[in-house]
Amino acid sequence: MASKISNVLHYINGEFVEGTAGKYFENINPFTNEPINQVAEGFKEDIDAAVRAAKAAFEHGPWRTMSVHERMKYVLRIADLIEKYADDISYLESLDTGIPISQAQKQAARAAENFRFYAEMVKTRMVGEAYHVDGQFLNYTIYKPVGVAGLITPWNTPFMLETWKVAPALATGNTVVLKPAEWSPLTANKLAEIIHEAGLPKGVFNVVHGFGETAGAALVAHPDVRLISFTGETKTGAEIIKNSADTLKKTSMELGGKSPLIVFADANLERALDAAVWGIFSLNGERCTANSRLFVEQSIYDSFVEKLKERVNNIVIGDPMDPATELGPLIHRDHWERVVNYIKIAKQEGAEVYAASVPEELKKGNFVPPTLLLNCRNDMKVAQEEIFGPVMAVMSFETEEEVIRMANDVKYGLAAYVWTNDMKRGHRIAQALESGMAWINSQNVRDLRIPFGGTKYSGLGREGGHYSFDFYTEVQVVHVAIGDHPIPKFGKAKQP
Ligand code: NAD
Repeated sequence: MASKISNVLHYINGEFVEGTAGKYFENINPFTNEPINQVAEGFKEDIDAAVRAAKAAFEHGPWRTMSVHERMKYVLRIADLIEKYADDISYLESLDTGIPISQAQKQAARAAENFRFYAEMVKTRMVGEAYHVDGQFLNYTIYKPVGVAGLITPWNTPFMLETWKVAPALATGNTVVLKPAEWSPLTANKLAEIIHEAGLPKGVFNVVHGFGETAGAALVAHPDVRLISFTGETKTGAEIIKNSADTLKKTSMELGGKSPLIVFADANLERALDAAVWGIFSLNGERCTANSRLFVEQSIYDSFVEKLKERVNNIVIGDPMDPATELGPLIHRDHWERVVNYIKIAKQEGAEVYAASVPEELKKGNFVPPTLLLNCRNDMKVAQEEIFGPVMAVMSFETEEEVIRMANDVKYGLAAYVWTNDMKRGHRIAQALESGMAWINSQNVRDLRIPFGGTKYSGLGREGGHYSFDFYTEVQVVHVAIGDHPIPKFGKAKQP
């Protein structure tokens, strides 16, 4: 991959175009805090153009009406091209976000799987149920694409999360306007290049870059956009729900988290330790399902914390492009300041802060060392609010009831992790936790057939598997008479 990255343009109606306002914003490298390139800044006029193209492609183009077999050829071509360009994608993702390259490679592979998975599912699911009723009627359901899909995505693992939405939206026959996060435009642009190369009809897939309050808000308010799938912060999600109400859009919300990982004394402690460390420090801690709260049974608290400290000291902090790096810089200086400020708050609240140190030569980047907030209380701000960095609040507990109460005493409900060798207890606790997803003796692995999403302030609806299929389609019922069933005569003319 060339070191000079060209400027990023919008992708509208099959062409890479400058914004109507001709404005650009700077895209910054989180490792150096120097500019990478310039990105076209989109406004309402650019969203209008993209939605116009997407609407025309939906209404008049062949995308929706072509056979499923034909459409899936395009979808599979996208998957092939993602695999072909996997190295470029990982490089761009790592450069743009600071995710260590070894972790970015896994995201690119998963992105290709997203397209293959929905290509397979759509082949079998576009026709639904059929009922033969009393020899008189046939009732059947069909699934149709909804229309123009507005997809709004965050900067953490951007490529994977974009494909998670784009793949089911396109496979089911919708047309798309994607508004990627302003801090991570590079791989969204690569996705546009890939889709262009795959030869999709003009207007089926569009990307408008820009900021949330302008480009994002215009997409949400646009009357011709039929659905919004959003991943990002809870407060943004709430705003989007409000702003999409007037045009009665379907919405799906994947929001923030403050997920607990609970370790009982009888667990396989080495594996629990691996999972706790990986779950908070991989992807630089910028993971919605990160176990940012750790609850350790009192009897093993001290020894478990000692081992945690040892692990924290051994994490390899460095250049995200170095294959040996385990923890890279945070996405942006503003986010870095937010995370650093939470660590200050933790000290003020009386937590004991234990952190590795960042090597001097890395100080120009947005590095936050892996950090443990020890002896936290569950009511502290740092135990309640999403920090979204390599920072874990650590607490102890004595009984099952106590840990369930503490784990649930938070506004979020995305993920939860339980470690115990008593499987009855494992199920009991997993089921008592207020979370969309719970893992027992496991880390954050997920089969693509399984729903993904949160409860409480962590989201509305689910993505993944047939849940995404259902979201991106409208089910229509067709009732047809196959016999001459009686039809009541209403207002019947009098017999002479
Ligand atoms: P964010 O909410 O700041 O931004 C997300 C996207 O929304 C961006 O594209 C942004 O430009 C856009 N946006 C902002 N304001 C908008 C508005 N008023 N109208 C329309 N669009 C608007 O989130 P972020 O900081 O990019 O991402 C981090 C957050 O995402 C964290 O809270 C994290 O937990 C969450 N997240 C959740 C999941 C999940 O599946 N539950 C997955 C990944 C990230």
